[in-house]
Amino acid sequence: MVEYKRTPEKQSIPWMGGKYAGQLKDRVPHGHGRLLLPDGTRYDGEWHEGKPHGRGTVIHARGAIYKGDLYNGRRHGYGMYAKPDGQIIKGKWEYGQFARPLEELPRQKEIKPSPTDRLPAQSRESIAPAISVKNLSHWYGNLQAVKKINFDVYPGEILGFLGPNGAGKSTTIKVLTGQLALKGGNAKILGRDIGRDDPKIQSQIGVTFEEKNLYLEMTAIENLDFFASLFGIRNPGSLEALQRVGLADRAKDRVSEYSKGMRQRLMIARAFINKPRILFLDEPTDGLDPVTAAAIRKTIKEEADRGAAVLLTTHNMFEADELSDRVAFINEGEIVALDTAENLKLKYGKRSVRVRLRDGDGVREENLPLDGEKSSTQLSELAASPDLMTIHTEEATLEAIFIRLTGRGLAG
Ligand code: ADP
Repeated sequence: MVEYKRTPEKQSIPWMGGKYAGQLKDRVPHGHGRLLLPDGTRYDGEWHEGKPHGRGTVIHARGAIYKGDLYNGRRHGYGMYAKPDGQIIKGKWEYGQFARPLEELPRQKEIKPSPTDRLPAQSRESIAPAISVKNLSHWYGNLQAVKKINFDVYPGEILGFLGPNGAGKSTTIKVLTGQLALKGGNAKILGRDIGRDDPKIQSQIGVTFEEKNLYLEMTAIENLDFFASLFGIRNPGSLEALQRVGLADRAKDRVSEYSKGMRQRLMIARAFINKPRILFLDEPTDGLDPVTAAAIRKTIKEEADRGAAVLLTTHNMFEADELSDRVAFINEGEIVALDTAENLKLKYGKRSVRVRLRDGDGVREENLPLDGEKSSTQLSELAASPDLMTIHTEEATLEAIFIRLTGRGLAG
């Protein structure tokens, strides 16, 4: 591991589209520092390898304040959240989600906002979901593809729609982004009803379309500059956007020369070029190689950290597990479960152990469910066996839970 010297003096660098002043390690924020984003959001506190991590205060552009523990950029641990209307919530957060109020916890030191944590004057709106969907339905002729689904996505949150092909994921995104007409139920995007042509909303959302509507005769950078100009953005930072999706070295190539995967990455850069408050990403890493897929996932997380509400669809349980703050299982047009991956596993998952045993000259593997009646006897027998080589606990996968709830897998 390389050891870096922490810079003693405060330094100012561009960071996450805003300005950071504070300590650095290897040219990224590390130690104590303050970030100011263009929309007015401020973060002051501890940093670890480029992310808010430790104790800190976040003052959101819309007036809310969080003061407490952060973990990898998310609220995690004990903290206090003051809404712009003055309401105060104290409690425990887990991976960005509010877990439980302080009253139910053992006595904690009270956390008080310091007098410097004044609310910015520009906004007194309370925190509302960025996407709010009520009883949404959609039909293609007689086929009901989406059946009265309900969900909300909050600013800074990633909601993963996990389900097999044909489950209704794309249809939902298409209705929410106006590519398909609203047929049943209702939905609000940033507080406004969908279904009308609303340029104010269009400029605040980023979408990856299935149809890759890029300009093939333009270079990648021209595509991004042009798209940003539609939103009146003069210096969109197109090269930086291409860098984030690993396309900087091909920025000046025409898109007609791009491979399918490169076009897909460009679509993602295009989706976030206008710093949207909501991102709709339909199968964002489908068909990409693992390295590129990992880079795209990192970018998606950064967008959520910036405050964007992200709704993404996937049929990849690893992606849903790794990326999403909450996961919605969608099957045959219905949401069959919606919670954090951790809670879904706790609630529906069956734990087991994988045991490897010597078997003559070979090795035998066995899977032993942990919650069965006989499991403890079997486990102690195995532990005493001279043939035992290794025991690993296996966490239930999201796919196993999906199968348990729906009777079908995620493939096909
Ligand atoms: P997913 O994105 O989860 O794969 P879709 O939303 O694309 O699922 O599809 C949901 C259902 O609607 C499927 O049964 C699919 O065959 C059907 N469907 C999707 N698009 C159309 C269309 N344009 N015309 C008719 N049926 C469609």
